Amino acid sequence: MRHISQAYVDGTFVPTLGTEVIDIINPATEQVIGTARLGNREDMKRAIDAAKRAQPGFGRTTKPERIALLKRLQASVLARTDDIQEVTIEEYGGPVARSKWVSQYASQCFGFAAQALDSYELTRKVGEATVVMEPVGVAGLITPWNSTAGSICSKLASAIAAGCTSVIKPSELSPIQTHVVTEALHDAGLPKGVFNVVTGRGNDVGAEITSNPAIAKISFTGSTPTGKAIMRAGIETMKRVSLALTGKSASVILDDADLARAVPAALSAGFQNSGQACIAGTRVLVPSRLLAEVIDRVKATVATLRVGDPRDPSTAIGPMVNQHQYERVQYFIGRGREEGATLVIGGEGRPEGLKKGYFVRPTVFAGVRNDMEIAREEIFGPVLSVITYEGEDEAVKIANDSIYGLQAYVFSSNPERARQVASRLDAGTVSINGVKVEPLAPFGGFKQSGIGREFGAFGLEAFLEPKTVVSA
Ligand code: NAD
Repeated sequence: MRHISQAYVDGTFVPTLGTEVIDIINPATEQVIGTARLGNREDMKRAIDAAKRAQPGFGRTTKPERIALLKRLQASVLARTDDIQEVTIEEYGGPVARSKWVSQYASQCFGFAAQALDSYELTRKVGEATVVMEPVGVAGLITPWNSTAGSICSKLASAIAAGCTSVIKPSELSPIQTHVVTEALHDAGLPKGVFNVVTGRGNDVGAEITSNPAIAKISFTGSTPTGKAIMRAGIETMKRVSLALTGKSASVILDDADLARAVPAALSAGFQNSGQACIAGTRVLVPSRLLAEVIDRVKATVATLRVGDPRDPSTAIGPMVNQHQYERVQYFIGRGREEGATLVIGGEGRPEGLKKGYFVRPTVFAGVRNDMEIAREEIFGPVLSVITYEGEDEAVKIANDSIYGLQAYVFSSNPERARQVASRLDAGTVSINGVKVEPLAPFGGFKQSGIGREFGAFGLEAFLEPKTVVSA
């Protein structure tokens, strides 16, 4: 049993002032594995004060100094890779491969931020002026539960590269992962107050971040409704806001795709992170004439996917993070049937043989129309919709017929054609023939999938404010 009862403020672990204690439940076993005493607004106020005190000094650090700090953070998080992987499996239920990736990415992203900063010109000449990119000020970093270590480290890396001090509010669903990551960050020995961490509820600790005048910038990852609430709250003090939000990505399988490869790859894109991924390709667009073959291949592939114990390296799909998410996914599976979609594989309830844990059956519907709820709403579980189209134009039209535009996928055996179709898709990222991440390229959403970009130079710029100095 782990009992988490501390926040991290001004370079020290301190007892939280908040008194609400919640159980931490292993989603694969439904057993209580610990408790967390959540922080409250007062904890966050102390954290903001510490970050505010540290900002003037930290904002004056030089590029080489910040690169050195990023390298220290990279090394100290790298040293805890195994621990981060372990708690990602235990507390979140992430399958081994996914948990391993997240734990490795957590340290790597400091290296990527150092690389981006190294090649970024913080001072440049524009006409007769000198333009200096200055840190925007104290940043509030708010993260979701589906990629705790990765989200915390990636946002912090960009803030540090820019010279911004931070307060971090991770999800209340990941206190153990947060604690281990914070210990690793602490080991880097950064100046006091440069980063502070308070786990607590959104409407309490989060709301303090969005309303406190000392916060200049918010970098948020989470759902679109919460993103809207944050933007509304932040406008009062004119906070700069970056929002990485909900997705409902289309996977466009073109008629020249090699289906033997494309179908398993599209299913991997849809079921990644047990379906709990903002970038999951959950609308699979298929040429009508290939539907029968695609369905056969879907059945054959899904039948090989192991759902269960996230510790087993052969597991492809782990549990949903909690009972609430389990029920949400069940609701959508029922909704798909009610709306008249055809169940290809999967369905309600747990997979056979699993009596405990928030496991759901990987589910694929065919006969889905793009106006059905299962095609419009982000389900955030392993539930995919196959939608047919008649030609490339219709495929593009259906793919773009969504209020979201985070990521899209195109499958084709003709690279030039795939790029042509990619250029017509309204999405922040288009990945061709499978899931590929370029950590130095901008990541973010079109439309209601977000505002602004993370990663690399674009992510760095989100924490900078240009200042023009010109002599008369
Ligand atoms: P969520 O919006 O419920 O919560 C995200 C974070 O915001 C949590 O830390 C939560 O406590 C906090 N929060 C809630 N209300 C708040 C408020 N009023 N003020 C300030 N903070 C508040 O999202 P979630 O359920 O944790 O995560 C799943 C969602 O995140 C999905 O919609 C998914 O698509 C999205 N997501 C997007 C990306 C991306 O990069 N675009 C990445 C991962 C997850």
